[in-house]
Amino acid sequence: MQVRSQNKTVGFVPTMGALHEGHLSLLERSQEKCDISIVSIFVNPTQFNDPNDFLKYPKLLEQDIELLENKKCDVLFCPSVEEMYPNGLEERLNFPLGLLEEVLEGEKRKGHYQGVVTILDALFKAIQPDFVFMGQKDFQQVLVVKTFSKELFPNIQIISCPTERDSDGLAKSSRNLRLSAEARQTALRLSQALFYIKNKFDQQNPSKIIEEAKKMFLEHPNVQLEYLEMRDSNTLEALSYETWPKNNAVLLIAAFVDSIRLIDVLLLFEELD
Ligand code: AMP
Repeated sequence: MQVRSQNKTVGFVPTMGALHEGHLSLLERSQEKCDISIVSIFVNPTQFNDPNDFLKYPKLLEQDIELLENKKCDVLFCPSVEEMYPNGLEERLNFPLGLLEEVLEGEKRKGHYQGVVTILDALFKAIQPDFVFMGQKDFQQVLVVKTFSKELFPNIQIISCPTERDSDGLAKSSRNLRLSAEARQTALRLSQALFYIKNKFDQQNPSKIIEEAKKMFLEHPNVQLEYLEMRDSNTLEALSYETWPKNNAVLLIAAFVDSIRLIDVLLLFEELD
């Protein structure tokens, strides 16, 4: 590859398309740091535990291409399923992820993270990036990818980037496109719950504030809370409130709004890298 012989650094932003400002902020970070920036768009079938979610995932390639052209992205990589899975969809990595695969997203979306590492393994081999830019919104995914790449791609640095939000606080997400205007209002409860906890945080009695925030999800027919938890931001271990480390706490939430699954995350004290 010519770029390699010229000693240029390559930044990579893997996405599933239906691009929004969250994705574009990752591209901007890559452009600031690297000589060449590559974005991939691939709706990866093996990371969907719900076939309906896969079928309904928004696909907007023409619009995505225009956004990337406007942002002067150097390369767009849009592989086919056959290219990424030459031996069929059944052939997946089985990478040990420990607790990361057992809690929160790992518990609720069985097999999801093995699908994620399987596609990233193929993408990293194809692209050979120096830096990979990923969103903190998918907090557990960043920890998974850091764990996996430390072992299999030690020369690649994973950079986690802050969450882009709409002005009312809703975390930007491709799945937001599927929300009706009313459902979008309901979806605001996710970020509101996180900011409520962060703002009212009581060192002495954190579980009380979390329980209060959970009440926002009661008695509303179109929203079902899956989890709202505070965990150690390095390991996702449950925090023991007696000894919990003050700087390593993250709030994580997942809920269905009109059957569309949304997640959000907020670091309690300070931003990570
Ligand atoms: P996706 O297309 O949903 O697979 O996301 C591709 C990348 O964009 C992942 O690293 C996500 O964490 C990141 N991303 C998604 N939403 C946001 C957001 N609101 N702000 C920043 N990054 C995001």
